[in-house]
Amino acid sequence: MSSTETNRTYVIQTLGCQMNVHDSERIAGSLDAAGYIPAQDGAEPDLVVFNTCAVRENADNKLYGHLSFLAPTKKSRPDMQIAIGGCLAQKDQGTILKKAPYVDVVFGTHNVGSLPTLLERARVEQSAQIEIKEALEHFPSTLPSRRHSAFSAWVSISVGCNNTCTFCIVPALRGREKDRAQDDILKEVRALVAEGVNEITLLGQNVNAYGVDFGDRTAFAKLLRECGKVEGLDRIRFMSPHPRDFTDDVIEAMAETPNVMPHLHMPLQSGSDRILQAMRRSYRVDRYRGIIEKVRSAMPHSTITTDIIVGFPGESEEDFQATMDLAGELRFLAAYTFQYSKRPGTPAADMPDQIPVEVVAQRYTRLHEHINEVSKSVNQDVVGKKLEVLITDVEGQRASGKSRDFRLVHFDAIEGMRPGDLCEVEIAAAKPHFVLGNGSPTNWRKTRGGDAFEARKKEAESKGVLLGIPTLKSIPGK
Ligand code: SF4
Repeated sequence: MSSTETNRTYVIQTLGCQMNVHDSERIAGSLDAAGYIPAQDGAEPDLVVFNTCAVRENADNKLYGHLSFLAPTKKSRPDMQIAIGGCLAQKDQGTILKKAPYVDVVFGTHNVGSLPTLLERARVEQSAQIEIKEALEHFPSTLPSRRHSAFSAWVSISVGCNNTCTFCIVPALRGREKDRAQDDILKEVRALVAEGVNEITLLGQNVNAYGVDFGDRTAFAKLLRECGKVEGLDRIRFMSPHPRDFTDDVIEAMAETPNVMPHLHMPLQSGSDRILQAMRRSYRVDRYRGIIEKVRSAMPHSTITTDIIVGFPGESEEDFQATMDLAGELRFLAAYTFQYSKRPGTPAADMPDQIPVEVVAQRYTRLHEHINEVSKSVNQDVVGKKLEVLITDVEGQRASGKSRDFRLVHFDAIEGMRPGDLCEVEIAAAKPHFVLGNGSPTNWRKTRGGDAFEARKKEAESKGVLLGIPTLKSIPGK
């Protein structure tokens, strides 16, 4: 059977971070190019792909939970294929087949583009295929892609990481940092904008180390400025920077490039220098605070979001309190908080003084409640003000979107509004996780992003397929 005659349907279940979500777009694109088609809502797919995570909590439990749910279906429909990719596959390799022998393909983070070939081989040879590469085969962005959104896209600028944070498995699984050439990145950005994309997020494990591969410390600031020149690109974001590599030229580029959004997501991880040291995070609280001060002085209306780990080995009540205090002092708009749990293969897993789970859970709840209060107060700052919003959802009379400074805004929809369009919303009320609009939005601007959304929706309706990438939710009974 030639690959274009496959006509087999697929779903992709993504477990994990933004990098995995972006990889899933590449997996879907590679499957589309090989003749697979997205499964319709509610239909049983011929292929289920899990793009796994080894970083997030309970990722392996989640995967094996999903697999045991699928086992009876696989038994009754042996031609349905199951493929496992991503970080957990890269880490566990053959163990996956021992635990779930009915899996057809295991592939790693470095060879997402080989999936169609491996599936074909598994079918022909009637045996499971494992292919894990230790080095990157193709830069993910050079592979075909099925994007989640018609108007907002991620562009990866680097993969891997040269740091050695003791809680993180990424360097072991994704390898050392590999930077993509600026010309390639800009070519992709321009191509996306030509397709109607009006928001781009530059993606990397450590975006502001970009350039380390080719010896240019100023490469990330230059890249932001170059993206700023792309006509039709309304918004540029990036994630995630590392405080160690954050240089003043990036702050200047952010402040001087109008389409770079006044929002910084910069992982803090802990507010205690002692714990930062144990985490092998090579900055201290003073440096982190200094960067935020400079960002705020260059962009007074900017917001800061962060990641925090609670209960790292050795974290005392005093260390934890330092994190609580810093969260209040730095006024984060949001903090993505994680309960520390051991990741086999990381140095922190073997550290003494692991914190009992109930203490971790209790600290997590305290921090979560505290951050909610802080976020609400940060959201109060914009009550009575007008925010420009990029619309992301329209459901009947209600619409939602993101402000330039990354606040989630809910407001009344105007008939004909489309995701991808821009408007202004006056803010009436603040909640911890969102702000609410007052009355009808103003200055609604139809954009090429909205046109792209509408065109994609029409195409999906005419073909009877889902927008974006179908997931396991669409399997009956799931
Ligand atoms: S900076 Fe640290 S946490 Fe982030 S990917 Fe690199 S090693 Fe992991």
